Amino acid sequence: MIIRKDDTVVITTGDDKGRSGRVLRVLRDEDRVVVEGVNRVYRHVRPNRRNPQGGRLSKEMPIAASNVLLYCQHCHRGVRTGRRYGADGHKERFCKKCGTGLGTLSKARPAYAKKAK
Ligand SMILES: [Zn+2]
Repeated sequence: MIIRKDDTVVITTGDDKGRSGRVLRVLRDEDRVVVEGVNRVYRHVRPNRRNPQGGRLSKEMPIAASNVLLYCQHCHRGVRTGRRYGADGHKERFCKKCGTGLGTLSKARPAYAKKAK
């Protein structure tokens, strides 16, 4: 799972195919993500103290992480991603199409830094 909260992702299958949105929540244990505006469902709720009227409530439901691709600003589309170590030993994601970095995954770690020759 390389999707993080607040990433922009593109949906690759289902009713929302082709749409993109911001990741609101990552359910790591289930390999699922909740994406803003995607897989919206209506919950019918009875009146309660928090919601005295009851009625229909629209909310996003989780979708499988394998059905989304990380959005690449450079390619303007969802892309497959890889992981690599930067020059100072930090780990980052990158776009496999154009090679652009797509966000850091860890702090700089000297043990993984490229050795000067
Ligand atoms: Zn790219």
